[in-house]
Amino acid sequence: AKRVGGSGWRAYDPTSALRRARSRLLEAEMRNSLEQGEFFLLYQPQVSLTTGRLIGAEALLRWQHPVLGMISPAEFISISEANGFICDLGQFMFTEACRAATGWPSHVSVAVNISPVQFQRGDLLADIRAALAKSGLAPNRLHVEITESILIERSEELFATLEALHALGVTIALDDFGTGYSSLGYISSLPLDKLKIDQSFVRDMVSDPTAQAIVQAVTTLAHGLGLKVVCEGVENALQCEMLAAMRCEEGQGYFFGRPQPARQVQALSAAHSLL
Ligand code: C2E
Ligand code: CA
Ligand code: CA
Ligand code: CA
Repeated sequence: AKRVGGSGWRAYDPTSALRRARSRLLEAEMRNSLEQGEFFLLYQPQVSLTTGRLIGAEALLRWQHPVLGMISPAEFISISEANGFICDLGQFMFTEACRAATGWPSHVSVAVNISPVQFQRGDLLADIRAALAKSGLAPNRLHVEITESILIERSEELFATLEALHALGVTIALDDFGTGYSSLGYISSLPLDKLKIDQSFVRDMVSDPTAQAIVQAVTTLAHGLGLKVVCEGVENALQCEMLAAMRCEEGQGYFFGRPQPARQVQALSAAHSLL
């Protein structure tokens, strides 16, 4: 048993001890793994719901460890945020994603996720400028996805960084919309281009009128603010039809394609329609 805050005793919990040990192991391994090339990006198709054409792809990070196997971003991103390593990963992601996108047709963009920690630590703008310069990718083909949690602080610095990115020509999307707590007034003051509606709403939409009403309301609101709407987690044709009827511009999900290597995205870009 273990002493808890002087107030009592709690049984030793082997699962949480194992989890902590695994976290420490991953933390100890990640720097070396990046140098060894064990991190890589897969790209998930983003499709126009009006034309059915591929218009972009979201870069999603993967870690293939030689002994531990495939490690999920849900597990290692939070660890890398806690120790600041996410900034090194970010530099890698921007460089790699921009390079990959230069192999795609010029109407296909690449979207990179940015963690709130990258705004606080590290030199996000310099990393992005460097990746664009090195790859020669047109800045308007780079999209970044930020989450609502980034907006809690309302810092001048965050605002300035977003403005600078926008001035570069980079497109800014607000990710996982509907799961956070951002005020509409504040959102409308930011230089955003797109809202991504979280997959939980899209998943429930077919069976749950409330979820459907939320997707419809958010879409109308986004359009009122001059933003485009991307729906995540589109898994079947019915969802696709409902979203198109609601005038959502773009869809992303297993219905169009799983996260996949860059050269497969290039092949998809030749398809007439992915609908
Ligand atoms: P996210 O940004 O919301 O990414 C979408 C996640 O939903 C991805 O999981 C994707 O594989 C999954 N997904 C896509 N379509 C479908 C679908 O139709 N059905 C279902 N059930 N799931 C779908 P993944 O790749 O495991 O990434 C999980 C999260 O990890 C991401 O959520 C993002 O928050 C984080 N992440 C991944 N890569 C990066 C990265 O490069 N940088 C940062 N900062 N975070 C990342
Ligand atoms: Ca995302
Ligand atoms: Ca998302
Ligand atoms: Ca999500």
